[in-house]
Amino acid sequence: MKVLITASECSPVVKVGGLGDVVGSLPKALKKAGLDVRIVIPGYKDLLIPTIAGQEARDFVIHYAGTAQKVILHKTSLPDTDIPLYLIENDTYISNGGIYLDPSAFASSQDEIERFAFFSKAVVELFVAREDVFFPDIVHCNDWHTGMIPQLIKAEARYIELSRPATIFTVHNLANQGISSTNVIEKLDGDELSKYPYIKWDAADNNLDFIMQGILGSDVVNTVSPSYAEEIKTSAFGEGLNGVIKAKEARVFGVLNGIDTDVFDPQKDPYLKFNYFLDDVETVLAGKTANKKALQEELSLQITSSPMLGLVSRLTNQKGIDLFVNSMDELINMGFQVVVLGTGDRMLEDMIRSKIEEPECRGNCAGIIKFDEGVARRIYASSDIFAVPSRFEPCGLTQMIAMRYGAVPVVRSVGGLKDTVSESVSGFLFDSFDQRSLLSAMNKARRSYEDKNVWKKIVGNCISADFSWDKSAKEYILLYGKALGFSISK
Ligand code: ADP
Repeated sequence: MKVLITASECSPVVKVGGLGDVVGSLPKALKKAGLDVRIVIPGYKDLLIPTIAGQEARDFVIHYAGTAQKVILHKTSLPDTDIPLYLIENDTYISNGGIYLDPSAFASSQDEIERFAFFSKAVVELFVAREDVFFPDIVHCNDWHTGMIPQLIKAEARYIELSRPATIFTVHNLANQGISSTNVIEKLDGDELSKYPYIKWDAADNNLDFIMQGILGSDVVNTVSPSYAEEIKTSAFGEGLNGVIKAKEARVFGVLNGIDTDVFDPQKDPYLKFNYFLDDVETVLAGKTANKKALQEELSLQITSSPMLGLVSRLTNQKGIDLFVNSMDELINMGFQVVVLGTGDRMLEDMIRSKIEEPECRGNCAGIIKFDEGVARRIYASSDIFAVPSRFEPCGLTQMIAMRYGAVPVVRSVGGLKDTVSESVSGFLFDSFDQRSLLSAMNKARRSYEDKNVWKKIVGNCISADFSWDKSAKEYILLYGKALGFSISK
């Protein structure tokens, strides 16, 4: 089976959040299972020189907005693998700036939306309209950036002699929808797309919702955890699309994300000062103590054996950062040393900056406002407890990475968090999004930490949890089979 995975991020080449992790790791498991899998992402300006220098490149022309746009298709490989990775370079729409225009990674201006509309058109013209690049059986799209691809493939199918590729659309975050002005329809393929009932219906209110088009246009839809797949059918989590998702429910599935256990591995993680084996809990705890002291020195924190409470996150409303920062006084009173790493929403960044300036925080808290893979890994390795207080969470990778490094998660009981953490077995959960519930779960974790035997058991459960991609990759292969079936039956 030939699969083309397309997205806006692919770790380690370009990563802003969990989407990058997934696109950089799922293909390895699919390849191991015998699939011919390839990846295509935008050739953002900053990536081009470091990623593709000296690699294969071909020039093409893409038709968009009544113009013939030159693109260069670069072919390289996902680092440390032989999985082909394509980057599409184009001066006008794609390779003219950073990655996302808004620091929260949410779709912002029409320019940004058009960047991905153009990218989507280019993917279809290069990989579906012609057979001399790579003609896949399945095109696997991810989030709003690639939401127009399933509809564009249908539009292209009118010229294809063979059957069109089947499409699967994975929703990583329904809150980020990519709402475009309707003139993009004309720019993409007005004559054909404007006939499509879902496009006509969506455009009736003068905008086009890219994530909704991905959901309605694809053969199969999935989200990144079974619980989130259920939650998005409700108005509380459906972001206004719950009706649409409910209508398509027979084709909506939940497949839990995995993590790349080769990359997130305390035994060989190059970012750690002290690597540690995962063979037994004593070794893990000793390794964590050594790393904790090193991180305390690195961040000019007090050298103490108090439990370290870590948080690594994009700073957005979704992640419950406000709830966490507002609870920090009590957390410090409970005896935690708090370390937060994040970047994103300016208001949340400022909230953290001003909190750590308060006198009672000095030496007890650190707030690092940047994207830094190394600091993130050292926080996972050093923390005893790890917080994920999200308002909603499609899957969440940080709690899984934390567990892999022997840090016990305290998480809100939503979405993928509740699918991956078991109460008092591998972590602690709280239901209501309020300070009382958060602090009560933290208190439970704190008390368990004091009981060395209980703690060893919980840490042991964390490190032995299997979050590798193997199981989920099999589920994706089954979904690819379903998508092929649906695409033929239409
Ligand atoms: P989301 O995709 O919503 O951002 P996930 O939990 O799925 O959340 O994935 C977040 C990923 O991004 C993890 O690999 C996490 O370590 C990483 N990450 C988030 N913020 C930072 C940061 N400031 N520096 C380094 N890594 C970060």
